[in-house]
Amino acid sequence: MTTTRFAPSPTGYLHIGNLRTALFNWMIARKNSGQFILRIDDTDPERSKEEYVDAIKEDLEWLGLTWDRVERQSERLERYADAADKLREIGRFYEAWETPVELDLKRKKQLNMGNPPVYDRAALALSDDEKAALKADRGTGVWRFKLDHARINWPDGVLGDLSIDAASVSDPVLIRQDGQVLYTLASVVDDTDMGVTHVVRGSDHVTNTATQIQIIEALGATPPTFAHHSLLTGPQGEALSKRLGTLALRDMRENGVEPMALLSLMARLGSSDPVELRENHDELVAGFEIDHFGPAPTKFDEDDLIPLTIRVIQSLGAEEMAEYLQTVPEKLRENYWNTVKGNTPTRFYADKWWPVFAGDAVPVVADEDRDFVVEAFALLPEPPYSAETWSVWTGAVKEATGRKGKGLFMPLRLAVTGQQRGPEMADVMAMLQKKPAL
Ligand code: GLU
Repeated sequence: MTTTRFAPSPTGYLHIGNLRTALFNWMIARKNSGQFILRIDDTDPERSKEEYVDAIKEDLEWLGLTWDRVERQSERLERYADAADKLREIGRFYEAWETPVELDLKRKKQLNMGNPPVYDRAALALSDDEKAALKADRGTGVWRFKLDHARINWPDGVLGDLSIDAASVSDPVLIRQDGQVLYTLASVVDDTDMGVTHVVRGSDHVTNTATQIQIIEALGATPPTFAHHSLLTGPQGEALSKRLGTLALRDMRENGVEPMALLSLMARLGSSDPVELRENHDELVAGFEIDHFGPAPTKFDEDDLIPLTIRVIQSLGAEEMAEYLQTVPEKLRENYWNTVKGNTPTRFYADKWWPVFAGDAVPVVADEDRDFVVEAFALLPEPPYSAETWSVWTGAVKEATGRKGKGLFMPLRLAVTGQQRGPEMADVMAMLQKKPAL
């Protein structure tokens, strides 16, 4: 069975980059009638926060990205300890005592000599006495996985055939000095235990994947299929990493972005398939092919969400919008909504036209139009109004004042609605509840 996972660390809110990973994994699972696991990578007790776990779930629920089960790494520490023991037994795990400062010095020296800054495995050369002395002096060290210095190859679902020379990579630290298990080990143990078949994540994880393949094999398991999607950039190709904090999913929600707009964009952006508004989740899933995505960085422009959101809004009926139309009298809601939805950018603006229809808009009248508007309003009878009111009224005003075209209509629109743009004036007038006050 196809099994995928989305594995956020609960150290912040989900942002647009996380969404891409979550969505791809979710679509693969759903497309293959498989399982989608929400895995909370919370092995870091200091940085992980329960409020972020709740926020992650809330954001995914908002988008309808349902999960089949939740796993938490903090509850699986024993499994990681078992795996560490196994790596020790087979001689693929070693303790090292260099301090961060010492490591940094080594790296600088290597770079000065024009060599890649790869850990020199000095700890592997220590005698038993030297190890005992270091242990007595510095306490427990970190634990590194001993890479097999061969090429690591895998067919990547996005990047094609990849080959990384293990000798160009430092033996990864899997357990910190304070005993905390690091992501690289926890992740492979989980992927193996949970039967994960497809791992899709950002291309910043490619080197991790190389080392993880060796760890998985050392533990006697078979690596899953890997695919590394490109990273997002801003509209001009600028790095997004620093701005990601401002592209939190919850901010988008608060700004009125519609889930289907966001999903429709992110499910295809960066692929050879067109971005189109999809009606529902099934449509997102149906046309999704991970190999239609390319390795080039993907430009993300928040503004692309605006027209998509407007189209979602226009497709919604008054009933679906009821929550946001509370201030509109119930019997008028449907009529009201059908009249204004073409001029409603997000659901939070759904009732913003109501004061106009209630006859409570603040009129806008330019100085040079003052006399004209007063004269025109004198020609407007009291309600009830109908679909003909606008044409009858403007016809009478035209006759009386000689104005026509924009010079006739715009001052009246401004006086009645207080806005330069909006729904058809004939529709607005037909629904006006009282004669607007000047
Ligand atoms: N917690 C990791 C991250 O957020 C998961 C990476 C992975 O998918 O393995 O980067």
